[in-house]
Order: sequence, then C-alpha cells, then structure tokens
Amino acid sequence: MHLIIRGALAAATLPFFFVPAPGCSAQSAEREPLRTRAERTNYVETSSYADVVGFLERVAASHPAIQLTTFGYTSEARALPLAVVGRGIEPTAESVRSSGKTVLYLQGNIHGGEVPGKEALQMLLREIAMGERDPWLDDLVLLVAPIYNADGNERMALTNRPRQHGPIGGMGTRPNAQGYDLNRDHMKLESPEARSFARLMTEYDPHVAVDLHTTNGTRHAYHLTYSPPLHPNTPGSIDQLLRGELLPSVTNRVREKHGWDFYYYGNASARGGTEMGWYTFDHRPRFNNNYVGLRNRIAILGEAYSYATFEDRVLASLWLTQEIVDFVAGDPARIRRIVAAADAESLVGQSLATRAAFVRSAERVDILMGEVDEERHPLTGQLMLLRRDVSQAVPMYEYGTAEATETETVPAGYVIPAALSDIVTRLRAHGVRLDLMSADALEGESYHIDRIETAERAFQGRNEQTISGEYRVGRIDVEAGSWWIGMDQPLARLAFSLLEPRSDDGFANWGLLAEHLRAGGTYPISRVH
Ligand SMILES: [Zn+2]
Repeated sequence: MHLIIRGALAAATLPFFFVPAPGCSAQSAEREPLRTRAERTNYVETSSYADVVGFLERVAASHPAIQLTTFGYTSEARALPLAVVGRGIEPTAESVRSSGKTVLYLQGNIHGGEVPGKEALQMLLREIAMGERDPWLDDLVLLVAPIYNADGNERMALTNRPRQHGPIGGMGTRPNAQGYDLNRDHMKLESPEARSFARLMTEYDPHVAVDLHTTNGTRHAYHLTYSPPLHPNTPGSIDQLLRGELLPSVTNRVREKHGWDFYYYGNASARGGTEMGWYTFDHRPRFNNNYVGLRNRIAILGEAYSYATFEDRVLASLWLTQEIVDFVAGDPARIRRIVAAADAESLVGQSLATRAAFVRSAERVDILMGEVDEERHPLTGQLMLLRRDVSQAVPMYEYGTAEATETETVPAGYVIPAALSDIVTRLRAHGVRLDLMSADALEGESYHIDRIETAERAFQGRNEQTISGEYRVGRIDVEAGSWWIGMDQPLARLAFSLLEPRSDDGFANWGLLAEHLRAGGTYPISRVH
C-alpha cells in the first residue's frame, strides 16, 4: 500500500539543479532549477495537487534520503503524498519507528486556502535535496505532507479568502470535499483525511508535529504567530519545552537572521469587557495541535500573517519550520526522552480537565500591532489588505492558556458495550488500545443523566450535545464482548477526553451517542476505579 506515485524514476536521469552556462541555449525543462509553482509564477499562483506530486517526485529522484509514499486518501480518492526523509530507512512506518531516530511530521494545507505551508515545505525538501540540510539526516526522520486537504486545494477560485493578500491567481477552499473543516475533525474523525492522519500518528509515531496555516482577522505586526497545544491536559513537560525553550529560541533566531517578529497566536479583542486583550483560539482537541498534545506529542501550530505578501508568508512558514527542525536536531535524544516519559506516566487517580476556559495573564504584555493598506485585486476588484511595515507595542492582557473549569478523576478504565460498534471503530481509528472482556460483574461508576442540551444548529454536520448529571457507584454488569479501555496506556489523555460524558470534545459532545442518551437514563459507557 506504500508509494503508488508513478513516474518517480523518470526525472532521475538528469540533475535538475543544473545551472545553465552563459550562452548555452538548448535547455530542456529538466535542466531548469527546480522551482515551486509559486516561485515560477512570481507568487501569482500556488501549487496544484499535480504540481506538488511532480515536485516531490523530482526531489526524491535527486537525493537518496528522500523517498515517497502515501498515507491515506481524501474523500475524492486523492492519495495523500508523504515524503519520508531519512538515511538508511525505508519509507514505511515500521522502518521509521524502528530507526530509533527522532521523527518530525510537517504538514501544510489543512485549510485549502492557506497555502504558504504547502509552498514552504516543497522549498524545505529542495534544500534537503541540494544537500544543504545533511546534518539533519544523522538523527532525524522528517515526514513531510505538504498538501493534507488536497481536495480543498483543487477547488481554487480567485474569490476564496477575501482580504488576504494573494495569491492573486487563486487558492483553494477551507473545507474538504465533504464540507468538513479538517481542523475540527480530529476527535470525531468523520473524514478520511482525519482518519489517515490519526493512523499516521499511530503507525509512524512522530515525536513532533507542525501544522502550517494562515491567519484571519487581526491586523498585528507579526509575520507569523504560533501556538503550542492549549488543552490543560497536555503533558506539562511538553508545554514547558515549547513555551520555555523551543518557541523562544525559534523567535530569537528568526529575529536575528531575518529581522521579523513571531509571537504566540492571538486576536486583539475587547471580548467580555471594554479592555483590549490578546486572545488565543481554543483549547479543544478537535484542533490539530491540541489533539497532538493529548497524544503526548510535541505540536506546533504556525499561522503566517494573512496580509503579508504571499511570498513573505511562504518565507515566514519556511523559516519557522527550518528553526523548529534545527532546534530538534540540537538534542534529538532529549525530545525522544520527553515523549517517552509522557507515554510512561500513569494518569490513573489524577484529576484531569473535562472542560476548560482561558486564563488571563498576570501582567499586561506588549503586543505588536500593525497597519494595512487597502488594495484591489486586479481581476476581481475585491478588497485585499497589505501589511505596512510598521509596528506599535500595545500593552494588553493575554489570554493564551486554558485551565480546567471541570475535572474528573482518571479511572483504571472504561467499559464499552459491544453494541457501541461505531464508538469502538473510532477508538481504533485513533489508535487507542482496546481489550476484549468476558462476562463479569464489577464495582464501578455509571453516569446518571439529568439533562441533555442539544445545539439547534448543526456544526460540522453534527448537533453538539451537553449532558449533565452525576456519577453513582454501583455494580456494572459486563456482557461478554464488551471492551475495556485501560487508562494505563500512552493514549490515556486522549481516551479520557473522548469517553468522559462531560468532555467538551468527546463522543457525547459530538452527538455520536445521541441514540443511547435520554434524561433519566444512564450513559452507556461506565468506568472502574
Ligand atoms: Zn487555518
């Protein structure tokens, strides 16, 4: 099932980094230096799916450490291309995992109109192909997925993402072909793309995952903003590494080398009062970086600034990614140790969040606010905004972290009746370990439901539900064929968020248990301490 991309050898015969000698006239296309479609068109256009696949084939043909495979499909059956970069490995999950190296997953285009990551990752692969990044290959494996929402990418239009500054030749759509926002699908897994991603996370098991986007909204002065995982159940060691070391180091190096400012993602808003604050987005694990954090992995969201030029957004995404990989390459064994320790930690008996809210920073921080000029798209006449090179520090409170507003004690495990086959399938798709049970009677807790609130409007095709009630201790009659989800497993943080009845991003929240829930009844999944 690996590598189905055809024609990879066709480009291998000629070195494509050939620089034409002066006066040399007979240049075939193969002898042109390899450039992305964005570069070839002076940043008027962005790469199509075929452009990306073609580019990947050419870099793979030029360097033995770059190999191609695919890691799943879109709903329109486009294979999701994955470049596997590493020495002495096959591009299979088993080979990557058993290499013992530190593995980074780099993803572009989860939102099909937010294209700089897709372009930057191609450029990063070219640097590797040209031998400029050979030191990375000693201890790292890179998994590069430039075009995750491939179906959304192909739905290009000049009018997508109005106000963003180009590419004026058009860009794709935010949702996938099913109409799902793939960056809200990491818990419910309704799309083949999300199931492909979850499987990649389980099978290749990268230690670090980077997800590249473009901002909407606030006119700040940063060329790029970033975020660590925001869920309060994220392992503390991962939060400390990112906020205490990795992100500050990346920020300093980009400022030193290029003079650009990067900062934590946020939008300036007077939400909930009259005073302006810097608000991050959301802690829930439906978002990629938050989900990866609940899997005990080091996740970074990157958001290139929407009103910088397309070229500058690509460069900001490239520089972020380069510096992240460089940081990891500085001590790859330590990254593996942090992840392994998080996997080994037992959560049983700990108090974890089922719901959370933003916390205000103790002090005001200086946020760099910017300005924009208005321009018109030359062909559609639509308004586009262009970043002005000004920056004004505005002190404001920051709402950049979340803390629990409700908690539950992590049990020894959960019991799932065999009849909940859809839930079992979704847990398997996440890579959660399930053990078959025989008939038994256990002392445990069942959740008694007082009230069910169902959202009137569907969100992402689901009417979200909030259930209220209480756990009561009692006997649980376990039917043969039920499933035990032990919390002594590495994905316990994730399983807890999926299964707890009050979880703000669990199966119950997404209405996936709706037919089994009624006020006065019992939540069908019980737990044992
Ligand atoms: Zn996005």
